[in-house]
Amino acid sequence: PTNADGTEIHQLDEDTVARIAAGEVVERPASAVKELVENSLDADASRVEVTVEEGGTELIRVADDGRGMTEADLRAAVRQHTTSKIADLEDLESGVSTLGFRGEALHTIGSVSRLTIRSRPRDGSGAGTELVYEGGDVTSVEPAGCPVGTVVEVEDLFYNTPARRKFLKTTATEFAHVNRVVTRYALANPDVAVSLTHDGREVFATTGQGDLQAAVLAVYGREVASSMIPVEADGDDLPPGPVDSVSGLVSHPETNRSSREYLATYVNDRAVTADAIREGIMGAYGTQLGSDRYPFVALFLEVPGDAVDVNVHPRKREVRFDDDDAVRRQVDAAVESALLEHGLLRSRAPRG
Ligand code: ADP
Ligand code: MG
Repeated sequence: PTNADGTEIHQLDEDTVARIAAGEVVERPASAVKELVENSLDADASRVEVTVEEGGTELIRVADDGRGMTEADLRAAVRQHTTSKIADLEDLESGVSTLGFRGEALHTIGSVSRLTIRSRPRDGSGAGTELVYEGGDVTSVEPAGCPVGTVVEVEDLFYNTPARRKFLKTTATEFAHVNRVVTRYALANPDVAVSLTHDGREVFATTGQGDLQAAVLAVYGREVASSMIPVEADGDDLPPGPVDSVSGLVSHPETNRSSREYLATYVNDRAVTADAIREGIMGAYGTQLGSDRYPFVALFLEVPGDAVDVNVHPRKREVRFDDDDAVRRQVDAAVESALLEHGLLRSRAPRG
């Protein structure tokens, strides 16, 4: 359409902008699950229950016993770019300790689904509130009897963006992505009871009272858990490089799978993928693993904030380091010495 002034360039309406932007944050059910679980952890929850139906395409419910929200908080939370986590650029630059800070997740999820949030604040005598947000509008706000904490329900994801809905894969594939996301947070937060239920079946539940080993047992089962070997390297244990410490668990080489899915790696407690870390791990196992076989790993790297960028795109979990080669050597050395200590590697000649 041509405008009065003869240009065909026109301003998109708010709804259209919101739905386009939503695709940047929420690509599939697993991305919504990630945002909601991060919110629960940021709210200091000790219990996070994730329930999905049909791979998350019909329903995603995340219930927590965290800080909760008042009615005013709820109304504010679904608006665009609203956050309680940072106030300005200065906060961002001085380092963010929460998983979220962009203030766009609830707003964008709500613009492409039917979103219901029930919440009751932990502090004060405030009762609960239920807010319904549909396709970008608050359609109801009512008092609700509910326990302290927050329950977020996302129904019919992408119901109003059919093109995106069409690109969703099978229930099994979408659920595999959800499982992978929830697993990563469960492993990184053994002090939080994290559970995942799919179509009425409990997939796993951690107790929230154990350590990483206990979380691995709950998530992957006894066979995998009993094959895990501790990795603990810092200071002089590591070759020179940006990584201050590498810790966690890696599996016996015989406990492996044909997918990278079980390489859970973290930098400063954020779940990430990084070529340097993966190559370091695979280098340590060397020929002990067949081609295209991967171990089970839950590996945590501590890196000074300025050696890695946390201000990454919301969807991208891939990080790069200033010095990828050094990171690779450090991870390789840490994992190799753990495997050697347990007699699981033939000693190798030192490499150049
Ligand atoms: P962000 O996490 O980047 O701040 P979100 O859109 O995910 O943005 O959430 C907006 C705000 O809503 C959060 O800053 C927080 O104050 C509040 N909030 C969201 N989820 C929860 C929750 N589960 N418990 C308590 N508060 C929450
Ligand atoms: Mg958030």
